Amino acid sequence: MPRPIEALIHTEALAHNLGRARAQAPNARVWAVVKANAYGHGVERAFEGLRAADGFALLDLAEAERLRALDWRGPILLLEGVFEPRDLELCSRLKLWHAVHCEEQIDWLAMHKTHEPHRVFLKLNSGMNRLGFTPAAFRAAYARLEALPQVDEIGLMTHFSDADAQRLGADGIAHQLAAYEATTEGLAGERTIANSAATLRHPARTANDWVRAGIMVYGGVPDFPEHDAAHWDLRPAMTLRSKVIGVQHLQPGDTVGYGSAFTATEAMRIGIVACGYADGYPRSAKTGAPVLVDGQRTRTLGRVSMDMLAVDLGGLPASGFGSEVTLWGEGPVIGGKGSRLPIDEVAQAAGTIGYELMCAVAPRVPITRA
Ligand SMILES: *Cc1c(COP(=O)(O)O)cnc(C)c1O
Repeated sequence: MPRPIEALIHTEALAHNLGRARAQAPNARVWAVVKANAYGHGVERAFEGLRAADGFALLDLAEAERLRALDWRGPILLLEGVFEPRDLELCSRLKLWHAVHCEEQIDWLAMHKTHEPHRVFLKLNSGMNRLGFTPAAFRAAYARLEALPQVDEIGLMTHFSDADAQRLGADGIAHQLAAYEATTEGLAGERTIANSAATLRHPARTANDWVRAGIMVYGGVPDFPEHDAAHWDLRPAMTLRSKVIGVQHLQPGDTVGYGSAFTATEAMRIGIVACGYADGYPRSAKTGAPVLVDGQRTRTLGRVSMDMLAVDLGGLPASGFGSEVTLWGEGPVIGGKGSRLPIDEVAQAAGTIGYELMCAVAPRVPITRA
């Protein structure tokens, strides 16, 4: 028997969440963002649930090849563009659209030999200061691209740093939106500026030709805890589950695990779960992280170790050896009612975000499509 841990990918939840992006931005086309192996879900598995997307956005050329191997003939956008000149050959061959964020990428395009001109999205650094041309340099870059025979249509893109929250006490997108609108005024081309947070929180101001829906299609909430998955009607696309493989009875003063980080103050029963940080469960989750045992909410105890963690079985007399443990996602149906543990709550308990937990599920965890 393999260890009882497994991850399930919920194809129908992906399709539902993609529909939520569409409902938020009914006049836009939707890029499903599938970078980082579809946020840990697996490009091939995620594709099953996201077929209805208008395009796929990612940044690893090997992942673009995997999508084409699935016979996806529609748009694929490389969000960071190419990393070296010869990547452009793959763009020509696979008809990849690519972001252009720096002068070097334009230099490479100018030297590229291709029969088919490329579709590109010129990226504006509207204030995040990660990738993109500054407002001062943007129009000159646009003119350079326009003059190249290697370039077909030029789209316009930017990316928000604070679409999920306020910034410096004000609306999180206003400053970047103002810079973007002023810089791109009158320029022709399809536009894309919204990530999940903007699509959910500011659709009227950000849903233009395309939205780029990442975390939301996986059921993660970009602005948790201000809003939760129920508020946005998002469903978990990933479940991480395992089983109780041991039970211990503690007396007051007994401690649990490495560093004796949890001390019992009364007699209690605990379950040992086959899931640890080597599976991708965050070691930063301390005593009290939420977990479901047989669909009932309880808490972790003490430190997460490499292969195991401990859970409180207090108040769960029917649970014990062999009980199903939901680390996040969909739990079992109990008494005709489903159970669920949002990944955002686990992430919060670990001082991180759902994005990181999804992406960190370890290769040793078998993944199946549910
Ligand atoms: C990752 C990424 C997105 C998607 O962001 P989410 O917050 O997951 O929706 C959109 N645009 C760019 C440029 C990205 O890198």
